[in-house]
Amino acid sequence: MQYVKFGQTPLTVSRFGLGCMRFPEAEDEAIAMVRYAIDHGVNYCDTAYVYENSEAILARALRNGYRERINLVTKSNTWGIEKHSDWERFLDEQLLRLGTDHFDVYLLHNLYDQNWRRVLDYDGFGFLDEMVAKGKVRYRGFSMHNTLTAFKTAVDACSWDMAQIQLNILDEQVQIGTEGLLYGAAAGLAMVVMEPLRGGNLIKNMPPAVGKLIAAHPEQRSLADWCFRWLFDKPEVTLILSGTSTLGQLQENLRIFENAQAGILSEAEQDFIGQLRAAFEEQDSIGCTGCGYCLPCPQGVDIPHIFRMYNNNKLSQGHFVDKLAYSGGLVAEGHGADRCISCGACEALCPQQLPISSLLEEAHEALGFDVVGFRRK
Ligand code: SF4
Ligand code: SF4
Repeated sequence: MQYVKFGQTPLTVSRFGLGCMRFPEAEDEAIAMVRYAIDHGVNYCDTAYVYENSEAILARALRNGYRERINLVTKSNTWGIEKHSDWERFLDEQLLRLGTDHFDVYLLHNLYDQNWRRVLDYDGFGFLDEMVAKGKVRYRGFSMHNTLTAFKTAVDACSWDMAQIQLNILDEQVQIGTEGLLYGAAAGLAMVVMEPLRGGNLIKNMPPAVGKLIAAHPEQRSLADWCFRWLFDKPEVTLILSGTSTLGQLQENLRIFENAQAGILSEAEQDFIGQLRAAFEEQDSIGCTGCGYCLPCPQGVDIPHIFRMYNNNKLSQGHFVDKLAYSGGLVAEGHGADRCISCGACEALCPQQLPISSLLEEAHEALGFDVVGFRRK
């Protein structure tokens, strides 16, 4: 494992951070995975109030001395703030749940416009100052899926120690992008990257053209390997979070990060990644990361599931199995795109700024399938 300084703080962090949003379903497996990561040099674990069960499971994983070996990082329940005292009330709940007396880094979570308003209205900056003074928080940060302009405004608004942004080979100019990365790093912030594989979708939905390029390359590296290298090659990227959901994935990531040094990519390798990007962009798939912020839809539409099916179906060139699963599963259970009434509630919450209702229409048209008339040969 490679280690770097965490911005201008005295912390030293592993370049790989364990994202705890997508734990395996079996709790024992999740606990074993966290401990495996720590035993192999990972010293940064990232969770959040709103990641279902994540803090509670992480707390159990961090018993028996594991807590002391890591930088424990979690995020505010920004959506639930209705008055200033709510910030500390939720934080105290998190301290209790995680069985610790302080967080090494505490982030104001997901500062899209409504959450940013809550930070301003209920003095989120003052809250962070108070928590640092009380010793409940060591370092201050925020996470954001938003525009570059909004990111710059946030960076300039408070004396943060770190920021967390989405970045991967396809998002150089999407959301905050590379320009935001440089801006945050120049302001002295530790820059943490999330969604390095867009919630695993870059791998799951790898177009055949990308697979061919990778297979033909003289260095036999996986797509995940190329994606991570592109990120850790950048000196402005402090740490990359990856939310592995199996021990095998974690082991593969740890192997990749053995050489996670900035400046490692040759010009030819940069060009190759440019070719991978171009091959991806030839596909017209929906850039949903599966984060679930749009849920629940009042009509019961299972938005990320439909988009995942749509993307997979595109990549598998319209294979009927996806259509059957959609029409015979989601639609039959009342969670299909046909239930959408275009109210727009989900679109205001989508960090990817997807035009969800029109994409749902498109997905429904592509995946719609006559289940009743279907007979398996
Ligand atoms: S626009 Fe459609 S999918 Fe989105 S919240 Fe409204 S009904 Fe649900
Ligand atoms: S549609 Fe947007 S908010 Fe919903 S899961 Fe996908 S990326 Fe997240």
